[in-house]
Amino acid sequence: MSIAANIEKIKQQLSQNIKLIAVSKTKPVETLMEAYNSGQKIFGENKVQELVCKFEQMPKDIEWHMIGHLQSNKVKYIIPFVALIHSVDSENILIEINKQAAKINKIQQVLLQISIADEVTKFGFEEAELFNLLVKYKNHEFPNIEIVGLMGMATFTENEDQIANEFAGLKKLFDNVKSTYFSSQESFHQLSMGMSSDYQIAIANGSNLIRVGSTIFGGR
Ligand SMILES: *Cc1c(COP(=O)(O)O)cnc(C)c1O
Repeated sequence: MSIAANIEKIKQQLSQNIKLIAVSKTKPVETLMEAYNSGQKIFGENKVQELVCKFEQMPKDIEWHMIGHLQSNKVKYIIPFVALIHSVDSENILIEINKQAAKINKIQQVLLQISIADEVTKFGFEEAELFNLLVKYKNHEFPNIEIVGLMGMATFTENEDQIANEFAGLKKLFDNVKSTYFSSQESFHQLSMGMSSDYQIAIANGSNLIRVGSTIFGGR
């Protein structure tokens, strides 16, 4: 099937409030342009250099999302153009994003990545750290940051019950955080969960931002 057909097939399964991020890491610009020309305007990348390189080469109405682990020294390269950073997984990285965004007078939208998998290799906050950070955020320690939601990655397993449990747990945490730390005027509304292998489970458990790569572009 063509890239356009792959995207269409996924979009048919999504209700109006759910956004699809085309995860285009490792794929060349020509391949991304096929998706773009079929109407896809949101792309996700997991490496700073590749993200910057593709941003420079591609049309300027694309919304670029950073979905991979960030190193502090590279944050400055993406702040001028990145729409949403999904992968804020430490206070230090948030401090750096705030600093770089302040330099260009930007309010950078971010998601906080939460550790939900039973794998130590996956990045993200534990609940206690998260609540700590939210208190600082509420005390205006990060004036150039807007936290608009949470992100999580389920365990890499065939066990769909486990995946569903992990996503349901994140949805519960999301609802709790939203009601405890955010007023109805604030836009804490994005829950980024689900990739090629598990986006249907993620949607069933409340995701409204899915990050799909190989189902659109083929294997890597
Ligand atoms: C690569 C990646 C995806 C997409 O993975 P697929 O299995 O190809 O859909 C989603 N989220 C993150 C954080 C990724 O790094």
